[in-house]
Formats: sequence, C-alpha cells, structure tokens
Amino acid sequence: MSGPNTSYDPVEVAALDPEAVDAAVAAALAAASAATTLEDLKAARGAHQGDKSPLALANREIGALPPSAKAEAGKRVGQARGRVGQAFAARQAELEAERDERILVEEAVDVTLPTGRRPLGRRHPIELMSQRIADLFVGMGWEVAEGPEVEAEWFNFDALNFDADHPARQMQDTFYVDPPDGGLVLRTHTSPVQARTLLERGVPVYVAAIGRVFRTDELDATHMPAFHQVEGLAVDEGITMAHLKGTLDRLAAELFGEGITTRLRPSFFPFTEPSAEMDLRCFVCRGEDPDCRTCKGTGWIEWGGCGMVNRNVLLACGVDPERYTGFAFGMGVDRALMFRTGVSDMRDMIEGDVRFDAQFGMEI
Ligand SMILES: [Zn+2]
Repeated sequence: MSGPNTSYDPVEVAALDPEAVDAAVAAALAAASAATTLEDLKAARGAHQGDKSPLALANREIGALPPSAKAEAGKRVGQARGRVGQAFAARQAELEAERDERILVEEAVDVTLPTGRRPLGRRHPIELMSQRIADLFVGMGWEVAEGPEVEAEWFNFDALNFDADHPARQMQDTFYVDPPDGGLVLRTHTSPVQARTLLERGVPVYVAAIGRVFRTDELDATHMPAFHQVEGLAVDEGITMAHLKGTLDRLAAELFGEGITTRLRPSFFPFTEPSAEMDLRCFVCRGEDPDCRTCKGTGWIEWGGCGMVNRNVLLACGVDPERYTGFAFGMGVDRALMFRTGVSDMRDMIEGDVRFDAQFGMEI
C-alpha cells in the first residue's frame, strides 16, 4: 500500500503521468465539442469530470506522491481540470443558446392562425326572451312567480272556472299523470299560477309567471307538445281594462320597439270576463304594407289572450270581487320569438342545435 512516506512508485501513479493527463484533457475537450445536445453534454461531463473520470482518479493519486512531487503534480492536474471545466461550461453555454433559439422558433405564436378553441355555449333564445320579459315586469314593480309543471287538476281547471265538462279537460288536449283519475295533469297553461299566487299571497298582487306548459299536440312546424307562456296577473282595488291595455302596450313596445301597440278583440275564456284576444301591431310594416309577409297584410299579429279576472276565480281564491278587480293575460313566448326573429319552424327551437342558438348571440 502506498503512503506519503513510501518511495515513489511509477506504476501506482501512472494516472499522473503528464502524457496521461494531456490525453485525458484532449479526450474531455473532444467529448465536449462532440456533444450536440445538452443531454449528450451531461453524459460526457459525467465521464470526464465525474468521480470516476481519469482526472478525478489522478487528483486522488496526488496524495500518494512524495511531498517533493505533490506541488508539480497538483498544478498539472489542477490546470487540466480547469481547462476541462471551462470547455464544458463553454459548450454548455453554446448548447443552451442553441436550444433557446430553437424554442423561440418552434414555439413562436402566430396570432393570425385560426384557433382550435371550442366555441362557447349559448343560452337558449327562449330563455333569453323569458328573461327579457321577466326583467320588464320586475322593472314595473311586479314580482315573478313560478308554479309546478305537474299541477293539480283543480288549479289547472276548477279554480280557473273551467266547467267539469269543458273540452279542454279531455285527454286529447291534456296530459294526465298516471293514474288518470289521480287529479294531476301537466299544466296546460301558466294560469294556475294565478290561482296559486292569489291563495298564497293574497291581494293586492302583481305577478308575472313565465314557464313551460304542455298540450297533446303533435310536434310540427307550428305546434309543440311543450311550449312556453308568459302570464300576467294584477289584482288590486280599482283595476280596469285600461290598466290591462297599458301594460300590454308597454310589453309590446319593450319587446318589439317603441310605437308597437296592441289591440283587443272580444273573445271568451272561462277565467276572464270580459275576455279578449290580443293582437300586436305588425312591427315589420306597422300596418302600412299590404304585401307584408309577417302579418300577411293585415297589419296585426295574433299574440295571446287576456281579460278581467272572472269573479268566480276571485271567489275560488278567497278574494272579495266587490272590492277587488284584476286583469290577466297570457301569451306564447315561443310564438313571440318566432315572429320576432323570423324562425319559421318551431322544431328548431327544441332540437338543441347550438348553431341555432348561436344566431341569437349572447346576452348577459
Ligand atoms: Zn306587417
């Protein structure tokens, strides 16, 4: 075993031979310049600068030299390791610069390229329309009420003054929930919300109800078994048909533009007396184009029904008809959307195709 006091043994310290050190340096420099990637360089650095590299072994051998030889050997090995270290550092800097250059080119963003981003979803136009209507009524100080879609037959018909043998009750018009004599139907209109609201809140009351209703219609371009209605009810002292007309005109102007008004035509509904059909002034031609396709030249578009709340409805809901009067109206939201936007086939509204919804843009 060699040690500081033993005599110099040229075999044991062959790694310190100047030629061997030069060869190790040359091999290290060649490996550094041959590395073309940072990964290659890291491997080469391990081989030529690591613990088991020739120069590291040579460095360890210095301790075995006689004191007189240590200085020279230490200087030689130290300079050699310094040169190798600089060469690797320089090559490292070169390769990093190349990598950064490459990343800049490869990962450059071309802002003119079309994006691969998924299109955003849209709120359904029926929903947008319903929200606009609700906002209008809230702005007038009304409340927005909701009722169940599976409704008691009593609320859907009896409370609204439908006779027991009224044709609307028949199964070809109304969806009955099993069992058929269980007294539950899918509501055929939003009017039962009137009765519920009167019973729950009492009078005076100003509520709008917007929601889905159901009838046993076949699905075609102009009919849907499920569609949407907006219902309005105002009951207070001194309410007259003038209030009804003013409210309808405000709604028409808000949805279809200033100057668009409504007209009333006598009609009949069990839950209002007197009752009226409501027409909307054609918002396309305003009644001035006999060839208008929207109103078919009549100047008016049928929109819904309305009237003064029947005293029997008030009585059924515990309201004194001698003291209170009220008006009610209802119209189709889907229908309003159709003639407001030119949608000609109702089926487009329920197929869930986002391309249809997207045409209506995004409202928040
Ligand atoms: Zn018209």
